[in-house]
Amino acid sequence: MTRAKRQIQDKLKLIDIAIELLDARIPISSRNPMVDDILQGKPRLIILNKADLADPVTTQQWMDYFQHEGFSVISVDSSSGTRVNEIPGKAKEILHEKIAKQIAKGMNPRAVRGLIVGIPNVGKSTLINRLAGRNIAATGDKPGVTKGQQWIKAGTDLELLDTPGILWPKFEDQQAGYRLAVTGAIKEQILNVDDIAYFATKELVQRYWPTLSERYGLESQPSDIEDNEQIVAVMEEIGRRRGCLMGGGLVDLEKASGIILRDLRAGKLGRITLEAPYDDMPLREK
Ligand code: GDP
Repeated sequence: MTRAKRQIQDKLKLIDIAIELLDARIPISSRNPMVDDILQGKPRLIILNKADLADPVTTQQWMDYFQHEGFSVISVDSSSGTRVNEIPGKAKEILHEKIAKQIAKGMNPRAVRGLIVGIPNVGKSTLINRLAGRNIAATGDKPGVTKGQQWIKAGTDLELLDTPGILWPKFEDQQAGYRLAVTGAIKEQILNVDDIAYFATKELVQRYWPTLSERYGLESQPSDIEDNEQIVAVMEEIGRRRGCLMGGGLVDLEKASGIILRDLRAGKLGRITLEAPYDDMPLREK
């Protein structure tokens, strides 16, 4: 952790702005717990990535939330490139005072220099490639690859360091761990697939019952989401509907779990966000 922190802080000296990538489906759980401390007050643009997979209503609530917290924020889909072209302009807007001062001194302002930071799998490489308009070999994760820092041009207004800043996810918070696992940000070896799917099913029953019941033809909506048996019954019903049966008519819960998670991650259950700014979750962790 200290090494990751130091690596990013070394890069901060080279840049004007940090571009913090979050997963629009879990903007708090996908946030590094020490990010404010690490970025040391650098101007910052927050990007809610994978917006194509997230619930658009909740994404707007998150935009309002971060703006209220004093941040500039934009939601994008780095896979298809939707709204990615707005990033250089936003970065310039955040730094407009600095740029105006340079102009007033008779200087010719250079392109804004940025560093993309975020936890693994949030989409850093995908976004860098999008902004660059070509595939940049990802050297950042591989130890032993020695290569000087390179600047990648993202249009005329923005330049990025080719290797993103890799932050660590929230390890300590169990709920965040499950949310990260549901979205595929952390590997299933760490948490049991049945447990991850149980967590996902509970969230889906609570927030997205109409979509869930329609997708799998479910009939009986659980009356109490805290009742384990009722949630497991939903998973079993999904398994039965999808033919995940073992001998004796028993449902293969592991197979059913795999189906639920695959469908959810592929967007087959619609656009789903797992946390909203103003419900039961902690709002801001510092
Ligand atoms: P990194 O570890 O932060 O560099 O993440 P990657 O760029 O490797 O992305 C992780 C996964 O998320 C890949 O499978 C990407 O295709 C996918 N991905 C990245 N951005 C988006 C996005 O905006 N929408 C969707 N649907 N998938 C994305």
